[in-house]
Amino acid sequence: MNFYRLQQDEKYPHVWYNNEADLFESVICPEYPGHQRGRRSAWSLSVEVKKRKFGDFVYTSYSDCLITDKVAEIFKQHNFTGYELRPVDVCNMVLPFNLWELVVTGNGGEAHPDSGMFIKRQCPYCKNTYYSAFKNGTGIVVDENNWDGSDFFTLTPLPKFILINEKVRAVIKENKLKGVIPILSTEITRDERFDGPDGGEVSPF
Ligand SMILES: [Zn+2]
Repeated sequence: MNFYRLQQDEKYPHVWYNNEADLFESVICPEYPGHQRGRRSAWSLSVEVKKRKFGDFVYTSYSDCLITDKVAEIFKQHNFTGYELRPVDVCNMVLPFNLWELVVTGNGGEAHPDSGMFIKRQCPYCKNTYYSAFKNGTGIVVDENNWDGSDFFTLTPLPKFILINEKVRAVIKENKLKGVIPILSTEITRDERFDGPDGGEVSPF
């Protein structure tokens, strides 16, 4: 079965977090101060629009995926599973449509071992977990035994990688939805220039 990652189409500018809103909560490690990190709180997003050019999908500078009413309606018509919509506030202008955050609830579990993503280390105190990065060449291979069958889902180590099945991809294509490019998950590549001496790694945080 083919799966695709929803990727931002760089032709469309992203929106920014509203600086006035408190959108992060910090996770503090009781043992290692270096593990402290910010995590998106469950609050609804408040964003600032800097360039008035929109696709049907709009991404934030932190890679959150937002959709317009039109897309929300299309997804609803098709009874897609594995997502919830959260209202998004736009702090600096009134737009002719609403924006919704696409919050993915579908679960693909761990990636297939062929992806090369294994737990490298985990902090026993704060549970910060580092995975080796997926391999260029194989990309991300979904293990269908771990997948809950949702149309939208993420894998454990990559919560910002929204994955979809063929059904959703067909609807995006049919409706010529803009602002997003579905990439075959096995063809995803990453920039190895930033890898450390023992290879790349990914952390879900
Ligand atoms: Zn820790």
